[in-house]
Amino acid sequence: MSKITVKTPIVELDGDEMTRIIWDMIKKKLILPFLDVDLKYFDLGVQKRDETDDKITTESALAIKQHGVGVKCATITPDAERVLEYHLKKAWPSPNGQIRSILDGTVFRKPIMVKNITPAVRTWKKPIILGRHAYGDIYRGVEMIVDQPGRVEMVYTPVDGPETRLLIHDFKAPGIVMGIHNLEKSIRSFARSCINYAISEGVELWFSTKDTISKKYHAFFKDVFAQEVAARKDDLDRAGIHYRYLLIDDAAAQMMKQAGDILWALTNYDGDVFSDVVAAGFGSLGMMTSVLVAPDGQFEFEAAHGTVRRHYYEHLKGNPTSTNSVASIFAWSGGIKKRGELDNTPDVTRFGDAIEQAVIGCIEAGIVTKDLVPLMDPKPAAYQTTEGFIDAVAARLQESL
Ligand code: NAP
Ligand code: MG
Repeated sequence: MSKITVKTPIVELDGDEMTRIIWDMIKKKLILPFLDVDLKYFDLGVQKRDETDDKITTESALAIKQHGVGVKCATITPDAERVLEYHLKKAWPSPNGQIRSILDGTVFRKPIMVKNITPAVRTWKKPIILGRHAYGDIYRGVEMIVDQPGRVEMVYTPVDGPETRLLIHDFKAPGIVMGIHNLEKSIRSFARSCINYAISEGVELWFSTKDTISKKYHAFFKDVFAQEVAARKDDLDRAGIHYRYLLIDDAAAQMMKQAGDILWALTNYDGDVFSDVVAAGFGSLGMMTSVLVAPDGQFEFEAAHGTVRRHYYEHLKGNPTSTNSVASIFAWSGGIKKRGELDNTPDVTRFGDAIEQAVIGCIEAGIVTKDLVPLMDPKPAAYQTTEGFIDAVAARLQESL
């Protein structure tokens, strides 16, 4: 069988621990035997980041900017313990955070659905995609403990012009205060990424805040979002996509009654909370994909889970593992499908689809890793090893082509 040629390069970001093992298997068994593709490879494994003083992370993000499509393996975000474990020069910052800030992108999480795993929320039949604005608010908050009576004010000193003062509270007794901020440019990029992704997925777009209470801060988000939606009205209409703004509490309640196929755009804190609610509602982290979408139209695909450290230590001891590779496989297939779409090469897009169908076919035939067994109906008699599952997908893929 001749290989399918991919016209433009795909940027590949390698990672750490168990997901690095899985990543290599996927590449060797599901991708390279079938595709003739120029992979621009960057090793984002923690040792390589350390060795290059983390320059490799910046280079990889710039490569995605240049080529438009990246696929990423999960990576360690080092803490003090990891610095000791891997003898690092320092606790390098999160690669995902850095890539996100270079591409100015928004992360969307999307569950992979199969017939024999029913979401905890009965009405959810199609994916609910969650888009979290990832800049500012309490994540860049400035806080103060007020331990005796006194006035706390907000003071704005423009470079040009008189200052404005606003009383936050005249404390008669101890208490606490917090100052938070956001940036118009960041909110606009967020809105544009959400619109792009809703169009690319063909799903409804919802946005929620609490603007009835926060009449300036949250209302600003609502207004900017509405302006960006208005600017793309023709594209949204053409794609048949409706935009809805709902109060956050209303949206939370309504979401429980929807069938899905909705992109739910949320501010930073709401997105933090509801991405975990939605992930838990759909079942397993092993079945949750994540895509970073830049407002300029670049895409980076990855699994939503981490490097599955506990399984890696078992693997190092020589014990068999049963780690779910589905989200990592979908990172590859998502990147391949997007590459095909951007290059206008339908055979590449079809191959991406074929990988996904092979994965779903296996799961629906009861061929799964251990984490999925408790979620399934009917329950399979046995579960696969990490490699056994990938081999089963490869066999099914081969058959389907
Ligand atoms: P994790 O990798 O998400 O795994 C936590 C637990 O969830 C696992 O021990 C396992 O549970 C279960 N799990 C997650 N993914 C699974 C899969 N594919 N198949 C089967 N079970 C799965 O989180 P972690 O082990 O706490 O974190 C490890 C490293 O990942 C950290 O250094 C963190 O910085 C990094 N991280 C990276 C990313 C990223 O690159 N996007 C995201 C999050 C975390 P059982 O042990 O019960 O089997
Ligand atoms: Mg969270």
